[in-house]
Amino acid sequence: MKTINITKVLIFMSAMTLYQTGCTQKADHKMEYNKLTSFEEYVILNKGTERPYSGEFVNHKADGTYTCKRCDAPLYKSNDKFDSNCGWPSFDDEIDGAVKRVPDADGRRTEIVCANCGGHLGHVFEGEGFTPKSTRHCVNSVSLNFVPQDKTAKTETAKAIFAGGCFWGVEYFMEKQPGVKSVVSGYTGGKTKDPTYEEVCSGTSGHIEAVEIEYDPAKTTYEELAKLFFEIHDPTQVNRQGPDIGEQYRSEVFYLNEEQKAIAEKLIAQLESKGYKIATKVTEATTFYPAENYHQDYYERKGSLPYCHGYTKRF
Ligand SMILES: [Zn+2]
Repeated sequence: MKTINITKVLIFMSAMTLYQTGCTQKADHKMEYNKLTSFEEYVILNKGTERPYSGEFVNHKADGTYTCKRCDAPLYKSNDKFDSNCGWPSFDDEIDGAVKRVPDADGRRTEIVCANCGGHLGHVFEGEGFTPKSTRHCVNSVSLNFVPQDKTAKTETAKAIFAGGCFWGVEYFMEKQPGVKSVVSGYTGGKTKDPTYEEVCSGTSGHIEAVEIEYDPAKTTYEELAKLFFEIHDPTQVNRQGPDIGEQYRSEVFYLNEEQKAIAEKLIAQLESKGYKIATKVTEATTFYPAENYHQDYYERKGSLPYCHGYTKRF
């Protein structure tokens, strides 16, 4: 009898603790959250869905950051927004750590919620191929607020453009570099507008295969990326890279500012002082044209490894 009583007391005490903790947390958080209208509550708290094409951000194109309607946490950047024609704002990426994925109650879809407050945002879909990242966050406008660019702290990203033979291989290695946010395979350096792969291969467009890298300067530098560029392809080969032969496979750095130019020239001088006969050209960047979707993330999608690129330490 005594044992049972003690157990009962313990259970009661733990229940009280849980109840109290739960209550306190709820009360604390509630203080911080923005007041919602009943429709906002319907979507954000009760996981409702606004009607397609009805939200204020469906065709919204301004530069800035989309934040959580309930707790103001930054969720998405306008750079990652794209037109999906699905009737809701669509993003192919989220701000790191801002969005949590949970299995939807329907057992099929993946629900997305604000990682900070748990507010319902919408659903995420993979593999549809709308953009190179092939990810679509389908978000209710009503779950979001928008903060224009000039009012947000300057979001620092920088770009770099390198050509080192078949872009599949350069993209593959660059994407694995810490601090790199995205790598797009494409064409640049030529004269024609919107070149196709066939035109570039035929050599008539003057464009060459290249990658455009977007990176976070707080986590990596142009010099680190440029060094890696010289180490994942063979910069001594002239108008070819391994089995890929032709001017469109030449080694070239397309600089976007004088600092990048100076770094590229410095690294080439370092390699030449080590005895390498460097073929890499250093050229001012012109328009970069993203390649057709089937060229993006080629090795990732194939699950195979580059045939003409590999890492060789040269610095
Ligand atoms: Zn939130």
